[in-house]
Amino acid sequence: MKEIIIKTTAADQTRQFGKKLAKLLKRGDVLCLFGDLGTGKTTLVKGLAEGLNVKKGEVSSPTFVLMNIYEGRLPMFHFDLYRLESEQEIAAIGAEEFLYDDGVCVIEWAEKMKTLMPAEYLSLRLEHGGDDARVIRIGANGKRYDDVITKLAKL
Ligand code: ADP
Ligand code: MG
Repeated sequence: MKEIIIKTTAADQTRQFGKKLAKLLKRGDVLCLFGDLGTGKTTLVKGLAEGLNVKKGEVSSPTFVLMNIYEGRLPMFHFDLYRLESEQEIAAIGAEEFLYDDGVCVIEWAEKMKTLMPAEYLSLRLEHGGDDARVIRIGANGKRYDDVITKLAKL
């Protein structure tokens, strides 16, 4: 698996990283975000939205509604599965459809999907690195995302 590791030392750097990453995304891409509360998943998603030219200030954590849709260069489907009790709930709201739709699908707490995890996805693993530092591991799960990793490595 292709992987790169970056370290940010402020929230704004994580956001800027999201913005750059967004420029490399294409229709149908799925981004799975992993990491404890407060590691910066939503911060990164805000950067993604900015990079996709979603109107500023729109992104909030969809913790209570499970999913938000934003209109940008590509539609962005933002999930936060923190409160999800079972994978059946995802199926129940029809969330699977978005995984194979024509937008970019971004999923916080993606591990909660279990068997519904798509076969291929870009994984973003965030960890605390002390104070305002965060370590972000970006991995290509599936050949589809090799190119994104190669391009990120060159930025
Ligand atoms: P999550 O969605 O993973 O729970 P959030 O993005 O909502 O995390 O919150 C991350 C918090 O940590 C924010 O308050 C943010 O300002 C702060 N923070 C401090 N340093 C960083 C960093 N390097 N990257 C991202 N967030 C950071
Ligand atoms: Mg969050």
